[in-house]
Amino acid sequence: MKKSGGLNADRKKIAVVISVVAVIAIAIGAYFADDFIGKKDTDGQNGKSQTDEKYCDISIDLPTLDNEAVSKEIKDYVESKKSEFEQTAKTLPKPEDGVNYNFTAKYETGAVGDTESVHVIISSYTGSGTARFDKSYIYNKKSGAQIKLGDMMESENSLNVFSSLSYRYLNEYSQKNSLSIADENIKGATAANENNFANVLLKEDGIEEIFMPEQLGIEKEAAVTIPYTDLIGTLKKEYLNGAEKSTVKRDLSKFKDKKLICFTFDDGPGGKYTNKLMDNLDKYDARVTFFVVGSRVNSYKSTLKRAYDQGNEIGSHTYSHSNLTKLNDAELKKEINDTNNLIENVTGAKPTLIRPPYGSTNDRVKKTSGMYNILWSIDTLDWKHRDKNKVADAITKNAFDGAIVLMHDIYETSVDGALIAMDKLSKEGYAFVTVDEMRELRGAEWDISKNYTSFKK
Ligand code: ZN
Repeated sequence: MKKSGGLNADRKKIAVVISVVAVIAIAIGAYFADDFIGKKDTDGQNGKSQTDEKYCDISIDLPTLDNEAVSKEIKDYVESKKSEFEQTAKTLPKPEDGVNYNFTAKYETGAVGDTESVHVIISSYTGSGTARFDKSYIYNKKSGAQIKLGDMMESENSLNVFSSLSYRYLNEYSQKNSLSIADENIKGATAANENNFANVLLKEDGIEEIFMPEQLGIEKEAAVTIPYTDLIGTLKKEYLNGAEKSTVKRDLSKFKDKKLICFTFDDGPGGKYTNKLMDNLDKYDARVTFFVVGSRVNSYKSTLKRAYDQGNEIGSHTYSHSNLTKLNDAELKKEINDTNNLIENVTGAKPTLIRPPYGSTNDRVKKTSGMYNILWSIDTLDWKHRDKNKVADAITKNAFDGAIVLMHDIYETSVDGALIAMDKLSKEGYAFVTVDEMRELRGAEWDISKNYTSFKK
């Protein structure tokens, strides 16, 4: 998966660099401090300057980079912020609470392959809260050229995916740390705008995003890491630190002696109810198959990503729920490809299964789509009656080893009915597997010409 040996070596190198830098930093800090006092002296305020060094602390620790242009840019930026601090501090009285005004600049670095990243952390305290002026720099070590986040993106849609991943991880971070960041602030801080992600670091396992307190409406910054495995298909390969597609495979041997059943859900992703279903799957060691409609994918990206990451199977239900047999080849291809690309952008994996809307398929559809056609053996008619008990009954009364059940996760009654059925069937020795898990457990090979309605023993 990852190049661990090389990174350890790099780490040692970084550790050495940092200790060298620390020594230099003391020197630089002293230089700046002298400079600061010097300014005070020329002010000629009879030794009673309000910016007496006793009331001001300045600490500056800048990286030594192998890139002169970036080094200079960082130095100039820190200088400009430092003089802003000095200008302000000059006008301030002796701090009443005994806490010195202070200005701090420090940094962190991280690298992936030839790409180096530096996050400069600048804080300035002039009596009322600490202001942050962080800035990140990314550049190619070989060419020296600076790189923007946008340059690292795979496609035009990537920033949207990056934004929804950022939302998910920041939201998680906020809850985990009981930060109570307002949802609108999380949305604002992670909206698909490159400026939102001005502070990033390329770490070993993922991109670290540092959100400033004023982005979040709280006192502290927040640092969240999006794993590179989540960014496959979103960032260009050279920025993924060797991350590979996860196959999210379960150990299937535990299901060998069980009766098997596939719960499949069409017409989603369905947001709230899809998430309710997923919240309950672990109880039954269950995974399901979602056949999603392409036109809905971008509205439910985080739900779809969660579904995939949880180990459920994602198949296509076409882009616009079309009757595929009625389309010409070009239209058919577009329905298939648009959907597959949208799904891959979110999950990192291209689907191989399709549930043709209305169960309408033929040889031309199979050949042109190149996907395996999954139909069903138990139709719950959940969309019609919208009754959780009828959904549950349709499943439990007709269940058999190898069955494929058709439902729709856009209805709460369907999700509730499915969960009732799971509870009952689990007591009868059923295991709930995805379509491809069922195929594997039954020792079957995929065949493009077939219509799969069940996997009987
Ligand atoms: Zn449908």
